[in-house]
Amino acid sequence: MRLDKYLSHMQLGSRSVVRALIAKRQVLVDGQVVRDAGLAVDATNQISVNGQVISGQLAVTYLLNKPAGVITATNDAHAKTVLDLIAPADRRPGLFPVGRLDKDTTGLLLLTTDGALGHQLLAPKRHVPKTYVATLQAPVTPAMVAELEAGIAFKDFVSAPASVRVLAAQKAEITIHEGKFHQVKRMFHAVGTEVVTLQRIQMGALRLPADLPLGAYRPLAPTEAAALA
Ligand code: URA
Repeated sequence: MRLDKYLSHMQLGSRSVVRALIAKRQVLVDGQVVRDAGLAVDATNQISVNGQVISGQLAVTYLLNKPAGVITATNDAHAKTVLDLIAPADRRPGLFPVGRLDKDTTGLLLLTTDGALGHQLLAPKRHVPKTYVATLQAPVTPAMVAELEAGIAFKDFVSAPASVRVLAAQKAEITIHEGKFHQVKRMFHAVGTEVVTLQRIQMGALRLPADLPLGAYRPLAPTEAAALA
């Protein structure tokens, strides 16, 4: 991908903003100052902006156990964001959340400076499975499970067959393959109940660690990142 497009995808600013950074000789690719905004780069290149490595092997990915009440955004004038949960010393340029969880949803959320990893995980074509535990207003019936597992036709998309495991009368684990807005809530609503609480426990090969408290985060180990890619 072109360098200016890549930097812009990594939330460093619009194309014109990142071109200005390049013109000011603030962007290095594999240790060399780059002046060509159209240079072809990929995830194997080590890219730094203003001395901070934002991509390549030294990129940073954090695994956060998102608490309820914070929004999945990089900044907001009023609400607390997931970036506010990251200690200032760990807040690297270009750090962005991979996908989004609703304000009231808890659990596994990745934040990364690695644009390539983010794009891989979010690409609709990859269908990275995501598993949630939902508590529900009404008991989950076998008919509901069958509907969820068959796939549900919404106005804007048809959900791929989900896997559902009933954990208690009003609690179920569900694995979905898309990442549409409010998807799990919409799916349960479609089969006749409402989600009361929602927690994401898994994304691809990555499981929410049982020992990571709500609101806490830790760097993703390179082996964990590799398993995801
Ligand atoms: N589905 C939802 O409804 N909400 C989320 O936060 C994630 C998936």
